[in-house]
Amino acid sequence: ERGRLSRLRHTPAVTLDGQKIELLANIEQPEDAAGALAAGAVGVGLFRSEFMFMGRQGHLPDEEEQYLAYRRAVDGMQGLPVTIRTIDVGADKPLDDTRRDAAHLNPALGLRAIRWSLAEPAMFLTQLRAILRAAAYGKVNMLIPMLAHVSEIRQTLSLIDYARSELDGRGVAHGPVDIGAMIEIPAAALTLKTFLKYFDFLSIGTNDLTQYTLAIDRADESVAHLYDPCHPAVLRLVAQTIAEGAAQGKPVSVCGEMAGDTALTRLLLGLGLRSFSMHPAQILAVKQEVLRSDAARLAPWAQRVLEAEEPSQLLD
Ligand code: PEP
Ligand code: MG
Repeated sequence: ERGRLSRLRHTPAVTLDGQKIELLANIEQPEDAAGALAAGAVGVGLFRSEFMFMGRQGHLPDEEEQYLAYRRAVDGMQGLPVTIRTIDVGADKPLDDTRRDAAHLNPALGLRAIRWSLAEPAMFLTQLRAILRAAAYGKVNMLIPMLAHVSEIRQTLSLIDYARSELDGRGVAHGPVDIGAMIEIPAAALTLKTFLKYFDFLSIGTNDLTQYTLAIDRADESVAHLYDPCHPAVLRLVAQTIAEGAAQGKPVSVCGEMAGDTALTRLLLGLGLRSFSMHPAQILAVKQEVLRSDAARLAPWAQRVLEAEEPSQLLD
């Protein structure tokens, strides 16, 4: 199967009815870029930058170390776009940072991701400068995790402007970035108009969107049987986000596990998704599904799945 799939590496991902589909890679280290290219990814849709910050006993990477890491990812992708997500620590990705190790009752609802970054502006500005510097050497997009409030959006965007002005002040080269938001809190999906106003693109984090919509801890085995990205409520939020993005002409991607699940490729195509970001190991199998699919014919079926009591029963 692997051997047969590998022949698809250089085949463009186009549906039977001619829709071009973007298949991107999720990576955790700059060195993963090689595997992404080998799998035929046309870019990195999610570089989970937090892995560089974890396990450092509170000794966080400085601007130069981060810049060099982002550069390695950009250079490794040989001119293809790289979407760098700003640090998403907390909850299932603890930073063993002794400054903030109070036992929180609900870490997934606590100080994680952009909340942590906005609480640590010096750390955040360091990361923003490093990303902007790497953007001078290739197409870089910046992706912000776990936003819910417009105040967080405004603070984030003004810190990005400030980071740029700091680099200008130092006379250091930096490049332009498109700025996107993760849609992974139901509140964000339900106030999408605000996100579409402020951002260049959106990326749906179905792992957290499922967790927060269903109130099920994604890391808790005892409720894992209830964790279902095909719950009608989750699907509706995903479908609305794809549709509203398309209506505004703003790119929308899915970068949660859903994007790499071949059982869901046809459903997502039918809902209008044209950009998928996943673990490199899943790209060729998803591409095979794309090549066999007629997106226009899947659309009415996808709407029926969306209306079903138990959508997964309609998937084969
Ligand atoms: C998600 O929540 O779907 C996502 C892609 O981000 P992470 O899994 O890193 O939280
Ligand atoms: Mg997430």
